[in-house]
Amino acid sequence: MKRLPVHETFYTWQGEGYHMGKPAYFIRLFGCPVQCPWCDSAGTWHPNHIPDVIEKWEIQKLIDEALENQALRVVITGGEPCIHELRDLTAALKENNIQVHLETSGAFPIKGSFDWVTVSPKIYKEPLLSCLEQAHEFKLIVDNPEVITLWENKIGQFYSDRPIWLHPEWSLRKEKAILEQISNKVIRNTYDYRAGYQLHELYGVDEEAKIATQINRPKTPSYTQL
Ligand code: SF4
Repeated sequence: MKRLPVHETFYTWQGEGYHMGKPAYFIRLFGCPVQCPWCDSAGTWHPNHIPDVIEKWEIQKLIDEALENQALRVVITGGEPCIHELRDLTAALKENNIQVHLETSGAFPIKGSFDWVTVSPKIYKEPLLSCLEQAHEFKLIVDNPEVITLWENKIGQFYSDRPIWLHPEWSLRKEKAILEQISNKVIRNTYDYRAGYQLHELYGVDEEAKIATQINRPKTPSYTQL
């Protein structure tokens, strides 16, 4: 079986989206060609932060760790996980009765079988039609007042029956104009807009989880802090 470049794994709970608050084992893979200027996972791709040697894990090692944590669901994220071939990993997780979730920008074909797909489109590399069609929910990072309208114009036809989470970009989470715009969109209810937040950041739960599961990578700064 193919091996995958792993940035970190940790057992915690999902802090975003429809499955917010549910326990999940996270697999964060290396690499992302999208390179958003406010990326909060710059350690997966930024040349100042990626390690000299990137560990490649056997799929069985990932399965074993998920089972050790008695995980009922796994979230595969990145970086951009869809630059990797994920069919073997997702098949092995399902063989062990583990639900498989994906968090992707949608800019690369989805190669695997998923129970839940979150597409968070980015203007820096736009999403593929095939990924939009497979999305169960969308997540928009709102870093300026035009971003919601922009995505309504570009992919609004996919919004009619799926939740669209509006997250303030983390460094702007206290910007009144951004928060008001999100609130207004939710209240006006053009689509199934939902006010989003990174709840796990408020709890500080991921850092604790990484320590608890012996993950040895230091927290990397977001791109905006570099
Ligand atoms: Fe890639 Fe996501 Fe970071 Fe954008 S936010 S650079 S898509 S990992």
